[in-house]
Formats: sequence, C-alpha cells, structure tokens
Amino acid sequence: MDSPQSSNHKYPGFLTIDVEDYYHILGVSGTPPVQHWDKLNSRVELGMQKYFELLEQKNIKATLFFLGYIASKHPQLVRKAVELGHEIASHGMYHQQIGILGQKAFYRDALDSRKLLEDISGKQLRGWRSPGFSIGKDTPWFFDTLSEAGYSYDSSITPYNKSHRMLCGGSLRPEFISTQSGKILEFPITVIKIGQLRLSMFGGGYLRFFPYWLISLMKERVLSTYPLTIYIHPRELDPHHPQLEMNLKRRFMSYVNMDSVPAKLEMLLDATNYLTLGDYYDLLTTEKQQ
Ligand SMILES: [Zn+2]
Repeated sequence: MDSPQSSNHKYPGFLTIDVEDYYHILGVSGTPPVQHWDKLNSRVELGMQKYFELLEQKNIKATLFFLGYIASKHPQLVRKAVELGHEIASHGMYHQQIGILGQKAFYRDALDSRKLLEDISGKQLRGWRSPGFSIGKDTPWFFDTLSEAGYSYDSSITPYNKSHRMLCGGSLRPEFISTQSGKILEFPITVIKIGQLRLSMFGGGYLRFFPYWLISLMKERVLSTYPLTIYIHPRELDPHHPQLEMNLKRRFMSYVNMDSVPAKLEMLLDATNYLTLGDYYDLLTTEKQQ
C-alpha cells in the first residue's frame, strides 16, 4: 500500500513520547515498587514542559503514551497536552510487562487505562504502547486482546526482535494486522536494515548511543522508504534527573550521551513533516474507503 507522503516526497515522521517518570525503567535493581511511587519526587512535568516548548516552536503534534498512574497524579498534564493539540494514548496503568501480567490482567489494564485517559482528556483513545515493548512468544493473544479492549492501533513492535516478528510478520512500515475482533494498525518502532542486520537508532538508549552523523544519514534512507517512528521519554530532556541503581551495562544504555539528545531530536524533527499516529490512521482508513 502506498502511504501518504509530504510535498517534498518524503514519508512523514511520528514523534511518540512514553509519558512516565525517571524511575519507570524496567528490569533494573533500583526500580521502586508501585507502593513507593507516591513518595518519590516526580520529574515528569519538568521533562514534558521541555517537549511542549520544543514542539510548539516546531509546530509539531506528538502522540503521548501516558501511564495511567501519571495521568491520575497529573491530570493537568493530560489536559495541557490536549489543549496544545497532541494526541493522548495509553502506556498501561502501572508500567507492568505484558507477559508477566497474563492475558486477563492485560485486558483489564488496557481497558482501565483507556477509560481513565478518556475521562481526563475528554477524547476517544485509540492507541497503545506496551511497557518495555514486553510482548512476544509468551503473548500470542496480544493483538486479539488489545482489539477487544477497544484499541485501533498499537506501537509495541520492535522489528529487530525475532519474537516480535513472529507476532505480526515484522513489517518495517505501518501495517494492518487482522485480529478476532477487528483490525489493528501496527506502527513498528523504526529500524534500519543493513544486510541481514536490523538496527534501532531512533529512540531511547539507541538514539543516545549512535552518533549524530549516522542517525542523520540513516533518517534520510528511512524517509525515502517508509515513515519514521521515534520513541522517547520525558527523562531524556531532563538530563539531571536522579539515576537508578543498576548494573554497568544497563547504566550505560540508560544514561549514556544524555546531553546529545536535544540536537539529535531537533535534526530529526526538521527532516520531514510530522503527524500524530491517530492522524495517520485516519489518512489510511479514509484512503481505503475511497
Ligand atoms: Zn515505558
């Protein structure tokens, strides 16, 4: 299927932000349990304020995958995002891994977070992103259950991951996936292909790790072939947030080159026109009906 392109013959970009706090890093020793969250100083508003300013300056609307917990503690942040024209989507209630939750609890989590975010935002919610991209062999029911919980699109697939590819075929561009209760549009995290290798470069630790010149070169290759999906967090524009306890490897991936993020992000945001995932969904579904 041909996808909508901008007038300069490039595919669009999508900026997606997982709206969570600095302590929502999965699988490290210093991650506090849910019962302790209320006692911690929150930094999420600080980081989000920086995104709001940058995006206003660039006139770009982003898709914000809010944690239900964050939305319930900071409802004004959700309302501000809506006022600024950004799209609200769900990142689950408490940042739990999908395989650990199991099908029933995942359904509940997807449903509860959708309803909560709809109540606060006053908007219909359509999109989901799994905490830590935690889907795979142990969650064969993922897309069926997500669709049953009332979602129309997902952005949890990292196509460099083999067990993710088993779930959906592993397309590098947005593609519809058939489920028992309807179709879900999947927005995979952008990877680049170099021979047999699939590399993530446009989000989280990968965006921090790879050098500016390489990311800049590769984004051109991506944008001539398919849309660019960037994922990022509030903590990445708040370099002085408290650091969690973790082993050396995770510390490197979590905090390396934090200061390089603003320049890389601006370079990517200037590279093409940006849409929200919901707007792109509408473009594809309207095209189909014609
Ligand atoms: Zn997350």
